[in-house]
Amino acid sequence: MSWFLILSLLGFSLTAAFRGFKLLNWTMGMALLLTGFAYFTSVATAVVIVLSILFTAIAVPLNVTSWRRRWLSGPFLAVYRKMLPTLSDTEQVALEAGTVGWEGELFAGNPNWDALLEQEWPDLTEAEQAFVDGPVEELCQMLKPWEISHELADLSPEVWSFLKENRFFGMIIPREYGGLGFSALAHRAVLQKIASVCPVTCTTVAVPNSLGPAELLVHYGTDEQKDHFLPRLASGEEIPCFGLTGPTAGSDATSIPDTGIICKGQHKGNQVLGIRLNFDKRYITLAPVATIVGLAFKLYDPDGLIGDKKDLGISVALVPSDTAGLEIGSRHFPLNVPFHNGPIRGKDVFVPLDAMVGGVEMAGHGWRMLIELLSVGRAITLPSSSTGGTKLVTLATGAYSRIRKQFNLPIGRFEGIEEVTSRLAAYSYAVSALSRMTATAVDLGEKPAVPSAIAKYHATEMGRQVVNDAMDVHGGKGIIMGPRNYLGRAYQGMPIWITVEGANILTRSMMIFGQGAIRCHPFVLKEMQAAKMEDQEKGLVEFDHQLLRHIGYSISNAVRSMIFGLSFAHFAAVPTDRKTARYYRKLTRYSAALAFASDIAMLTLGGKLKHKERISARLGDVLSQLYICSAMLKRFEIQGRPAADQPILAWAFHDSIFKIQTALGSVVDNFPSRAVRVLLRTFVFPLGRHERQPGDRLGHKVAQLIMSPSETRDRLTHGVFISQDASNPVGLLELALPRVIATEPLERRLHKAEVAGEFNALDMQTQLQTAVEKSIITAEEAAELQAVREMVAEIIAVDEFESDYLSMGASGDAKVVADQAA
Ligand SMILES: Cc1cc2nc3c(=O)[nH]c(=O)nc-3n(C[C@H](O)[C@H](O)[C@H](O)COP(=O)(O)OP(=O)(O)OC[C@H]3O[C@@H](n4cnc5c(N)ncnc54)[C@H](O)[C@@H]3O)c2cc1C
Repeated sequence: MSWFLILSLLGFSLTAAFRGFKLLNWTMGMALLLTGFAYFTSVATAVVIVLSILFTAIAVPLNVTSWRRRWLSGPFLAVYRKMLPTLSDTEQVALEAGTVGWEGELFAGNPNWDALLEQEWPDLTEAEQAFVDGPVEELCQMLKPWEISHELADLSPEVWSFLKENRFFGMIIPREYGGLGFSALAHRAVLQKIASVCPVTCTTVAVPNSLGPAELLVHYGTDEQKDHFLPRLASGEEIPCFGLTGPTAGSDATSIPDTGIICKGQHKGNQVLGIRLNFDKRYITLAPVATIVGLAFKLYDPDGLIGDKKDLGISVALVPSDTAGLEIGSRHFPLNVPFHNGPIRGKDVFVPLDAMVGGVEMAGHGWRMLIELLSVGRAITLPSSSTGGTKLVTLATGAYSRIRKQFNLPIGRFEGIEEVTSRLAAYSYAVSALSRMTATAVDLGEKPAVPSAIAKYHATEMGRQVVNDAMDVHGGKGIIMGPRNYLGRAYQGMPIWITVEGANILTRSMMIFGQGAIRCHPFVLKEMQAAKMEDQEKGLVEFDHQLLRHIGYSISNAVRSMIFGLSFAHFAAVPTDRKTARYYRKLTRYSAALAFASDIAMLTLGGKLKHKERISARLGDVLSQLYICSAMLKRFEIQGRPAADQPILAWAFHDSIFKIQTALGSVVDNFPSRAVRVLLRTFVFPLGRHERQPGDRLGHKVAQLIMSPSETRDRLTHGVFISQDASNPVGLLELALPRVIATEPLERRLHKAEVAGEFNALDMQTQLQTAVEKSIITAEEAAELQAVREMVAEIIAVDEFESDYLSMGASGDAKVVADQAA
């Protein structure tokens, strides 16, 4: 009976933890159990007394507030204050910027799947769809990527005019200022389609619509600034760029040495109060063609001309490119993807005070403005363009692997190629779902700081993998550059997207979990704020309140993580009315494990976690994959759970879950403290690690899905530009694919007849003629075979050039601008 009592108390405590009971409810339940056993059973009185003492020792200090503050939260607060990482003002701004959405649920260990599935999922409006089907389609037809990237190193004048006339540069500018006033989703759809044709054009369109003067002005500009600049930016009369990065300040953007000193100076013939700017920026996209430069610098007011503060901090001004002292126009050459990009330097450039975005009131608030807006731009630009690129590459590679034959078989039938093409299809599915979910979050009013970092990192990393894979499938066809090559520039340019808008290693190591742990955690930010309160008494009350809930939350996640680990997540509350229920279960399991492991990491490493980038990165990987899986499941639901797509979802899902296991496993295996390693292993992987990578049979199914036209393939590649013109290399692939498939039986018949010795022809023409004569195929079939073979010959052809053509850069008048630093 004593054991029964102990087991009952333990069972009740575990249930309470699993279900997240309140402390008072647990206390009352335990007290009732003890009393009940004492009165109604024959349990030994000594056992009841010992257990009651133990229970009282735990329950009373926890339940009596004054005791708890004195003996528990008070002393812990003292230690906590010492453990707190020292945060600079700029880090503080980054942590507080943005909002928390679905990622908060995933981080907290108990995601409410119904909330995700019921979440709104807006679509394009009619006007937006008309723009995508009209001007965007027309633009894509006009683009000649080879001419742009190799011959002009620029967009053609017609393309520039078309972009301006159709207000491509004003997608995010409200209609009342002459812009298109598009949703994030429409913005995504436009970039996705353009990226599927030409990265140079996509970048040229993306920058003015991302973090640039327009975005800053819409949110922070004064009325005069909005009225003056926004219509001109929307019409393309003004071409903007934004300069933050310099030679010494790259990833560490807050360390910019560029200065603005408030002083008096001459402006349009009058002496006015203004800013004297000195700066050296590089890598600035659109700078060589910009007419207006958004500039970040550190503002100082040594003579107290606008207030008492001398060091005001990072500020942002709009500087016309023809301002005296500003040096602009020379170009960098980013990896053979020659969008306009170059340095901007300024020596004693004077601008009036009203050049500052938002006017004098916004002096020193530049970093906050940038961080808040960056999360929106980052959620759209690179995830959308990666989606376009990834889909196009998947479409083309699927077709090519069916059309290209070696050893008398389409190369896509070989298992080695299948291994690659299945990943390609699955990543395409994942990237698209991820970018859709993040753009939708923006449309639903979020400033998704953490999801935007997840989307930027993973969309570009999966994009890099997809392009690498596609290159391997295409062999020499992908390597030989020229108008027929639809892959080479994407492959060359990949490191650009990895580096810009927060270089990927930094994004993974510092931002996703670094920000996420504090932003998404239900209690940590509140505890930090309480610990920093000047009123110590008030701080303790708040800290105590948060800490009590935090302890319950941690215990609950630990218990849930272990029970899910032991039961293969059988008891997780998930939508059970569908085939994917087990997917939701797995996600709930790893969400609880992430919540528990994060708490342990923060508790044991404190401020040092900031420097333990490997742990931070791996925990970030877990959060990211949970987010990606959620996005894929939402996509699957929204598309009506198409059974034909299930293999792709399954491949992508198992790949993600395997990555979660690998990342969590690496956290456990590499945790600095041995005791913590044991603790984590026990609670996270109580039965070991059982997740497996997607199997070969599944991979085979997925690979086949992209090798022939189908609704699944259409859904997978929806939104990219597919030319109907046979002179476009991707258009030709798509035109040829159904005809190649239709003539495959004829090719097999011919081959069989040849092997059987029915005829023997040395060239294709004779082969077809003889086959008709011998009634192996009909004359119409021979004609179709002939036509298809000509198409295939064009598809597998590569370009050739006169030697002079390739060396034209060196033979022209272009000069290399001397490196100023040299
Ligand atoms: C083509 C192109 C276009 C650009 N356009 C613009 C623009 O329009 N406006 C603008 O202001 N800037 C622009 N940039 C700048 C871009 O944002 C920076 O290149 C980027 O922030 C990285 O800076 P960096 O190149 O100096 O690399 P570095 O900061 O020197 O970083 C080098 C490596 O170190 C890693 N790293 C740095 N710190 C850490 C850390 N704490 N932990 C882990 N890893 C770390 C980075 O991830 C990276 O892998 C552009 C850059 C390029 C190449």
